[in-house]
Amino acid sequence: MVILRSKKVLLDGEFSPARIKIEDEKIVGIAPYEGEHDIDYGELCILPGCIDLHVHINEPGRTNWEGYESGTQAAAAGGTTTIVDMPLNSIPSTINASALETKRASAKAKAYVNVGFWGGAVPGNEKDIPDLAAEKVRGFKCFMVPSGVEEFDFVSTQDLEKSAEAIQPTGLRLLAHAEDPETIEKSAKIWTGENGASYADYLLSRPEEAEEIAVQTLVRISTTYDLDVHVVHVASARALDVIRAAKAQGCKITAETCAHYLYFSAEDISDGDTLFKCAPPIRKASVREALWGGLADGTLDFITSDHSPSLPSLKGLEKETPSFARFDKAWGGISSIQFLLSVVWTSAKARGFSLSQVSDWLSKNPAEWNAFEKRGRLASGFCADLIVFDPDAFFEVGEKKIFHRHKVTPYYLEKLSGLVHATYVSGKLIFSDGDEAVDGPFGKLV
Ligand SMILES: [Zn+2]
Repeated sequence: MVILRSKKVLLDGEFSPARIKIEDEKIVGIAPYEGEHDIDYGELCILPGCIDLHVHINEPGRTNWEGYESGTQAAAAGGTTTIVDMPLNSIPSTINASALETKRASAKAKAYVNVGFWGGAVPGNEKDIPDLAAEKVRGFKCFMVPSGVEEFDFVSTQDLEKSAEAIQPTGLRLLAHAEDPETIEKSAKIWTGENGASYADYLLSRPEEAEEIAVQTLVRISTTYDLDVHVVHVASARALDVIRAAKAQGCKITAETCAHYLYFSAEDISDGDTLFKCAPPIRKASVREALWGGLADGTLDFITSDHSPSLPSLKGLEKETPSFARFDKAWGGISSIQFLLSVVWTSAKARGFSLSQVSDWLSKNPAEWNAFEKRGRLASGFCADLIVFDPDAFFEVGEKKIFHRHKVTPYYLEKLSGLVHATYVSGKLIFSDGDEAVDGPFGKLV
């Protein structure tokens, strides 16, 4: 048995002095603060580890972009104890049971935190959906526009209906990258080849309207097929309004947004600064504030990182490559898993939200939403996945070790609030501040 104590343990939404008793990977008791203990964390906060449901690890196939070893170490150093890996950017994509087996085999010996898997819904793989469900994927992800990699095709509305029909009996969710392809195609005509570096043009090429129309389609699919549908990375106030109205009507739709949409705004982004390229794009500050409003009123269910790294050359960061400083050619994806909690806390605090609320968006809500039994809270019987966090400490990104395979991130040199001092997975201390190393791998496939 190991007993941790602190003056500030997050229990049922409140910080209280308590001792946490850990045995056989589980929390076996929450006891009064005074008494026998092994480690005293004093005034530091103890929170459940974050559960990041939107991560691209890319292994196997594109391990030189990011692999399980570096990606899950970065997660651990940032306070995330469970990730769910997206079905694309690795080769093979997770679109059938044998691909899932390949993914699991490559993650198995390298998972420093717990790893789960989304299956993919692509045109023609409806017959693979029951097998993937039987093999315990956590749900199915599709793209309504080209995904950026050729081996993961996007679904037309007709394909989407076939996927919905196949997924419904499994009881799992359909997750969708929601942008309308016709609107994107129309808007993309502004790329003349001369203005690839212009962020204003990139924004015009992926307008809010594309998200709004796609979400309307998803609402219709959810209603028609009585299917749980989830909108990933909402970046539009207009899409948010559609989701809000649909939820009020009882539609089984849910939604997430990502840390970068809550932290940055278009006003921060210079022409040619392709580190910020992601899709949908980071929009103006008024949209960012609307997303905070969507979190506050429950329209958005939780927050993810959408950690989606690639090679610096593809990200438009190296001279003499075709994508250099061009938003039309650079890889769209932001490398960020290590900074999820601190980024969200920094921006949430500035808007008057509490740390307990932030923990709900990053731990409790994603755990409940994705049926992670006995995770996402600190309570007796729950998995001992927890972190020790100093909400008042500051650090500059780059001053401590960045564990991502490639260190390029738009958060570089940002001054963030909130430092992870220690991370425990299944009761084992795997990261402590100052060590610059993550112990393990002790993660489980979940
Ligand atoms: Zn993604």
